[in-house]
Amino acid sequence: MAGGFVELNGIVLSSSNLGDYDKRIVVLTKEKGKAVIFAKGARKMNSPLTAACQTFAFGTFKVYEGKNYNLNEASIKDYFVELREDIEGLYRGFYFCEMVEHFTVEGSQDVDILNLLYVALTALRKKQMRASLIQIAFEMRIMASFGLGMEVSSCLLCGKEETEKEHNLVRFSSSKGGMLCADCAKEAGYTLPVSSSSLYAMQYILSAPLSRLFGFDLKSENEMELAKISKDYIKTQVNHKFKSLDFIT
Ligand SMILES: [Zn+2]
Repeated sequence: MAGGFVELNGIVLSSSNLGDYDKRIVVLTKEKGKAVIFAKGARKMNSPLTAACQTFAFGTFKVYEGKNYNLNEASIKDYFVELREDIEGLYRGFYFCEMVEHFTVEGSQDVDILNLLYVALTALRKKQMRASLIQIAFEMRIMASFGLGMEVSSCLLCGKEETEKEHNLVRFSSSKGGMLCADCAKEAGYTLPVSSSSLYAMQYILSAPLSRLFGFDLKSENEMELAKISKDYIKTQVNHKFKSLDFIT
C-alpha cells in the first residue's frame, strides 16, 4: 500500500505513552471509525502534538497513512476543558470513551456513535442533566447501538403491553434483555423492579432523537431504579470490566 497523508476528524478516546518520547492515541474518526494513531515525539517538550494527544481532544488529525497512522499535525477545535475541572463529569467522560473504544471496531465507520459521544460529552460539560442520569442514558443508548437494545414496549414472554391505565411491565430481566409482566416474571429467575415512571424514561431514552436525549428529568428514586437496571444489564450482557467505573461513585 502506498503511503500518503489523510485527514481524520474525530475525538481522542484514550492516550498512552510509548517508549520515551512517543504517544499512542485511539481516535474515533468520522472517516475510518476507530483508528490507532502514533504520535512520534509527542512527549518531548514543546511538541506541537502534545495537546492533541489528550482524551476528549476533538478536531482534525492529519496523519501519514503507511503501515500505521502517524500523526503529522492536528488542529483541535475543542478540548472539553470544563470536564477537567469537574470530577463527576471527568470520570464519566473517560467512561463513555472507554465504552466507545470497547464497542467500536477499527476501520469500521461509525458516525452515529461519534455523534452520540460528542453530544454526551457536551451534556456533561454543560450539566444539562445530573451526570449520573446522563450516564444511564448514554449506557442504554450505546448498548442499543450495538445490538443490545432492551425490549421496553412489551413483555418478552407473552407480549403484553403497557397501557395508560395499567402498569403491566413491572420487572426487568437482564439475561433476557427486557421487560416482563408480573405473571411471566414469576418464572423468569432474577429480575429487577421497574416503576411506570422508570419504564417511561427507558422508552424515552431508547427512542428520543439525539438532540433531545439528554433533556429529561427523573425523580431520584426512579433514577436509582434505572441505575441498578443499567448496571446489572451491562454486567450480564457485556463481558468486560470498564476500569474508569472504579472512579465513579
Ligand atoms: Zn408476560
